[in-house]
Amino acid sequence: MSQPAGQYRLSTFKDRLARLAGPLLILYMLLLLGVTYLAQRDFQASYTTQLQLDLEKRAAALSYFYQERIKDIRTLSGDSALEAYFANEALGMSMEYGLRASLLKIGRIMREKAQATTLGGLPVFSRIAFMHADSSILLDTSNESPGVWRSPKPDTQSPGGVQIIADDHVVVLSQPYLYKGQNKGFLLAFVNHDLAFRQLVYEGSTPAASRIVILVEGHPVTPAARRSGSILVQAQVRATPFKLEAQYYPTGMTSYLTSGWSSALLALLTLFILVGVAIAKRIRSQNYILFGRFEESARHRELLHQQNRQLQEEIHKRQDYEEQLTRQANFDGLTNLPNRSLGMERLSLALSSMQRADEFVVLLLVDLDRFKKVNDTLGHAAGDRLLIEAARRLLDSVRESDTVARLGGDEFMILMPGLKQRESAGLICRKILDGFSLPFVTANYEFFLTTSIGVAIAPEDGDDPNTLLKNADIALYKAKDEGRNTLRFFTAEMNERLKARQGMENLLIHALARNELFLVYQPVVCVADPIIIGAEALLRWRNPVLGLVQPDHFIPLCEDMGIIEEIGEWVLSQASAQASQWHRLGPFRLSVNISSVQLRSPSRFLEVVGSILGRSGLPASNLELEVTERVVLDDSSTNQSMLRGLDALGVRLSIDDFGTGYSALGYLKKFPFDTLKIDKSFVHDLPHDEGSVALARAILAMAHALGLDVIAEGIENADQAEFLSSQHCDFAQGYFFHKPMPAAALTQLLTAQATIHARPA
Ligand code: C2E
Ligand code: MG
Ligand code: MG
Repeated sequence: MSQPAGQYRLSTFKDRLARLAGPLLILYMLLLLGVTYLAQRDFQASYTTQLQLDLEKRAAALSYFYQERIKDIRTLSGDSALEAYFANEALGMSMEYGLRASLLKIGRIMREKAQATTLGGLPVFSRIAFMHADSSILLDTSNESPGVWRSPKPDTQSPGGVQIIADDHVVVLSQPYLYKGQNKGFLLAFVNHDLAFRQLVYEGSTPAASRIVILVEGHPVTPAARRSGSILVQAQVRATPFKLEAQYYPTGMTSYLTSGWSSALLALLTLFILVGVAIAKRIRSQNYILFGRFEESARHRELLHQQNRQLQEEIHKRQDYEEQLTRQANFDGLTNLPNRSLGMERLSLALSSMQRADEFVVLLLVDLDRFKKVNDTLGHAAGDRLLIEAARRLLDSVRESDTVARLGGDEFMILMPGLKQRESAGLICRKILDGFSLPFVTANYEFFLTTSIGVAIAPEDGDDPNTLLKNADIALYKAKDEGRNTLRFFTAEMNERLKARQGMENLLIHALARNELFLVYQPVVCVADPIIIGAEALLRWRNPVLGLVQPDHFIPLCEDMGIIEEIGEWVLSQASAQASQWHRLGPFRLSVNISSVQLRSPSRFLEVVGSILGRSGLPASNLELEVTERVVLDDSSTNQSMLRGLDALGVRLSIDDFGTGYSALGYLKKFPFDTLKIDKSFVHDLPHDEGSVALARAILAMAHALGLDVIAEGIENADQAEFLSSQHCDFAQGYFFHKPMPAAALTQLLTAQATIHARPA
């Protein structure tokens, strides 16, 4: 299963994005954590600064408060009543008399001071006392009994000025009192520290501040445990031993922003997200694996489909092939008729199922007359078309239940089973012969083709396929022998004729070796003045058993038996040797017939001609080779080049039996012919038949126009000779002038001619 390129690119891009998403997210979360941490730190710093400023403002207020109180205590110590008291004391005044009054006055002043100094309506000094240098309490605004003094104690060694003594929850301002340079005691003012602290420091402080304490030399006046997560700021209270320390617990947004928990929470969130990404990635990769497996299995399925398809195709091909093989084995490829093997199969089936005594199986062997000649002259393609048409006509002539098979070449078999009367076979044969009465049209020619039919009837002519076929063949041979275009029923005598042919073949094979072949020569003469200009060599066979056999009877057999090349070579060699002797008597032109079979191996043939000419000494230009139209119509490059090769040797070429081969005239120009021989069938009806006259004139005019010599064959009377002479036919050959004769007879004629006539130039 192939993936489209675009889709593939898209999925690759998605995959990359998915792979990048994890690290990108991690990076993003780390960045977020970092930024949050920094922001949190900055925020905390600025928040702390804000708290610091706030606390310092409160410390300043407290400092101012204490400075004012110091001023208060100084003012009080400067009061004249105190001076008056110590003056009186110095004067030795007793308590009962003057001193008490002074004390009362001082006490009143102190009380007034204590009551007058308020903060938010509440007295600032909880107690003002005067402690004598001997540590006894002279005066005290509190109800506590004089003489009792608890720490803190003022520093008696202090050089002067207000001392702030802080201890536990007590803050005391101590002002030493000097009279005439002597320390007479201390004015001690107990500051309502809680009030001051509450109103100046604590009240209005940032609500976030959970606790503010005052420290004295590092110790809290109101000690409390520090709590974690708080912000701790300190501020010095100027001109006092105090220091403020505030502990803040961030609340709400601030607490969230500054809290470590938020970072931890964020980190935890990041962790969750990362874990989530990892899980998603894992699921995705599992999905990938699943998808991959799915794709793999789809591919696998597709592969199986493909293999299945291929298998199916292979099976179909095989079936087709088998069908084709069966067809080839049983049918003829050209005509589509059953072939010999199927025909024979059906014949044996018909014979074996022939049960009733009144039934016959008729076997016809049909052979096209002179098909070989048609094939030779028109070529194999035209021959094939003709066979197809002949097959069609045969099929049209028989019943559906009959079988028409092609046995090979131009031979057909017709099987007619279940026939009731012998006469029916004759009727069908007539029908077949009539079917061939219409002309065949092929290669732009219209011509007539006849058939010969041999009939054998089972069971009397044989009850097995081979015997029946053999006997039908004998009947066919007889039909051919007796003029063709006819039918013959098998008879016992026919068998004898066949045996005779076979006997002839057996004899022919030894004819050359047994010197039974010989040549006769038929002179070729000038028409106008019948001097012999040459002769045609004609083959004869004299057999002790058969007697003299004409070439028409044995040359086709030689061609069939494949001995024509050997025999043809012998003819050429004999005739050339003979002609070279005649050539000494005067110019002599030898014509030799060449079978088309001899031209099938051109190189060998050219070599043979060359060597024979060399041996005989006959000039090449005095040898004329006669070929039929088949050779030129085949138009193969081999034949063309071979004829050109012969021409190059200097040998003359002649077209024999011109007009009988239904040939095209174009080849006369195309091939290097020197001579045209008008067939005796055209000469036969001259000069009385108008058609023959017109034809002879036309052939002569055409041949002369092409620069060819013309030899008229088969001249049997003076009228024919005279007519041809009047038509300027060049040469003639026929019984009227000379019959074919032995070499010796021609030698005599040529010798006589040589002495009588002057030699032609
Ligand atoms: P062809 O080449 O056309 O030879 C001429 C035939 O016409 C000869 O028959 C000849 O005897 C016959 N003829 C000549 N003048 C007359 C006449 O006035 N009247 C009649 N009715 N016939 C006449 P032949 O010798 O029987 O040869 C028959 C054919 O056999 C030749 O026809 C030729 O095609 C073939 N043939 C003969 N010898 C050879 C040979 O050596 N090799 C090959 N391949 N074919 C040969
Ligand atoms: Mg000839
Ligand atoms: Mg001829």
